[in-house]
Amino acid sequence: MSELNLILVGPPGAGKGTQAERIQQDFGLPYFATGNILRKAVTDGTELGKQAKAYMDDGKLVPDELIVGVLLEALDGAEATDGFLLDGFPRKISQADALAEALEKVGRKLTAVLLIDVPDEEVIRRLSGRRTCAKNGHTYHVDFDPPKHEGVCDQDGSKLIQRDDDKPEVISKRLVTYHDETEPLVEYYEARDLLRRFDGTRTPTEVHDHIRATIATLRLEDAI
Ligand code: AMP
Repeated sequence: MSELNLILVGPPGAGKGTQAERIQQDFGLPYFATGNILRKAVTDGTELGKQAKAYMDDGKLVPDELIVGVLLEALDGAEATDGFLLDGFPRKISQADALAEALEKVGRKLTAVLLIDVPDEEVIRRLSGRRTCAKNGHTYHVDFDPPKHEGVCDQDGSKLIQRDDDKPEVISKRLVTYHDETEPLVEYYEARDLLRRFDGTRTPTEVHDHIRATIATLRLEDAI
């Protein structure tokens, strides 16, 4: 069976993290989320974290010099030789080009880019009530998906926090960044016949069923 190299794209709050957890379980893929990598660097107080924090708090993308090398190195590791699932990368055309070049060099290619689409009003509604587990990034919503015990992650018992960039003034900036810098990737990957669209306003289970069926079909086509 050939490798499964997948990318998740979509506005903040589209449910990429939720779907990533499920896809990982379905297909046993290593998962790389640049947002999680950067947040960990900030918490750990590394040089990367120190340099990235101001951009993140302002809803902007961190410069390519900070993140592209980190991500490509991770993909080059033994863990990712049979496939990968990327979330939050690439986030702009220059990053997509860097990824394409790195994959081409080693004779690999992308299997599909999964776009989870959600309108801006829904993004705002979701992110303003989102709470995130401090340890592993599991997410909840205060109204639509509350944890069993307020402020505590059901999955690992760690504290739930509101991400600094989920505060209302930053959410609108992140949406502007998404439309200006990330959305052009939709056309980019459509032109390369890699894009698959999913309606992110459906329930997580419906979105997941649709994604899983799409990946299964892609694998089947590949095997023929
Ligand atoms: P996320 O968790 O994917 O929403 O990412 C949180 C923040 O990390 C973003 O708002 C950016 O500031 C930064 N970030 C994550 N991935 C990237 C990337 N590929 N390029 C630049 N900045 C990124």
